[in-house]
Amino acid sequence: MPNIAVLGSTGSIGRMTLDVAAALGPEYRVVALAAASSARRLAEQAAETGAACVAVGDDGAARALAGALPKGVNPEIRVGPGALADIAARDDVDIVLLAVVGGAGLPAALAAVRAGKRLALANKESLVMAGRLVMAEARRSGAEVIPVDSEHSAVFQAMACGRREEVRRVILTASGGPFYRRPAGELARVTPAEALAHPTWSMGPKITIDSATLVNKALEVIEAHHLFGLGADEIGVLIHPESTVHSLVEFVDGSVIAQLGPPDMRMPIQYALTYPERRSAPWERLELAALGRLHFEEPDFEKFPALRLGFEVVRRGGTLGAALSGADEVAVEAFLAEKIRFNDIVPLLERVLAALPWKSDPDLDDILATDARSREEAKRCLPSYTSSK
Ligand code: NAD
Ligand code: MG
Repeated sequence: MPNIAVLGSTGSIGRMTLDVAAALGPEYRVVALAAASSARRLAEQAAETGAACVAVGDDGAARALAGALPKGVNPEIRVGPGALADIAARDDVDIVLLAVVGGAGLPAALAAVRAGKRLALANKESLVMAGRLVMAEARRSGAEVIPVDSEHSAVFQAMACGRREEVRRVILTASGGPFYRRPAGELARVTPAEALAHPTWSMGPKITIDSATLVNKALEVIEAHHLFGLGADEIGVLIHPESTVHSLVEFVDGSVIAQLGPPDMRMPIQYALTYPERRSAPWERLELAALGRLHFEEPDFEKFPALRLGFEVVRRGGTLGAALSGADEVAVEAFLAEKIRFNDIVPLLERVLAALPWKSDPDLDDILATDARSREEAKRCLPSYTSSK
């Protein structure tokens, strides 16, 4: 009877997780919820799940939540940044489904693995920032880190077909996002609304913009490096617009094992909850004949230089991942607020990475300091880019 904490429960992955847990039946209990705000939705979720504890970001959100709870629903309400990590380590929690967006997820990821919980991980930023620390803590405590990100879930499943030393390389697929075919010269005029319309996946705003710039794939290259202990030369990226083949593992004998499915995050979410078992699921199934064709091509590193950043971070390591993650949060927010143009995002990231001091073997304090400095540096650079208005 696994008890689940859903951190980031009001977001895209969080809401799908509650659907999956409900469909799995009473054996899977949601005992804790957390989100930054959205009091009304959280109150509904608390009533539906019977969660014992609900965390929100600040006092205002806590008051709104208390006011929105129906009669007879009285979860413990926790407030503030420390609450996520406290919940992740609670005695009554077995699985921490971490679906908070951004660097805010890191303390909870560390707390979950230190406490020996299964970490069902959607929050890729925590690995990008501090993958070495998170994976080392997991090894020490014996905690499992099961990826929710669809590509990494695919790799995790395909890896089961051989031993680690039999893996030649891993190939992450990428839809290419909404602008892959758009002439490079037109990218300056892309609006937030256009960039938020992803062709195959429906997701939260940050990852949708990251998918359009391909920064998301850079983050996923770093995520794969940490999850599976792969070097930069053992990771490839393949453009696959249909998002049907979620990723592939090539073994030394030339066999390639891929995992396929519709573009529906409920499948990797369920797998992370039920692993090592598979449970029957009610969602729409893959119909390959209806799709007819699947397409693959090499990525264009010139047009989408973000990809290079992922491999650079894997090669150089240290604090570079934290610098990339922090700067990217600022850049995406600035683009959505129309303070910079779409094609300013990656040059801004490159500039921040070049400007920040680098440390090879960082501890958590170094990582948090780098994250803070990269945000400051990115904000300092913003005025030198033209507004998209
Ligand atoms: P989202 O924006 O829809 O939801 C984010 C959630 O996190 C919300 O519940 C929000 O309230 C909460 N949150 C944000 N900051 C917080 C804070 N400081 N404290 C507590 N809660 C906070 O995002 P999403 O699309 O669900 O993505 C979540 C994570 O999963 C991201 O790291 C993303 O990269 C990853 N991911 C998402 C998808 C997808 O299909 N959406 C796929 C793969 C990976
Ligand atoms: Mg992904």
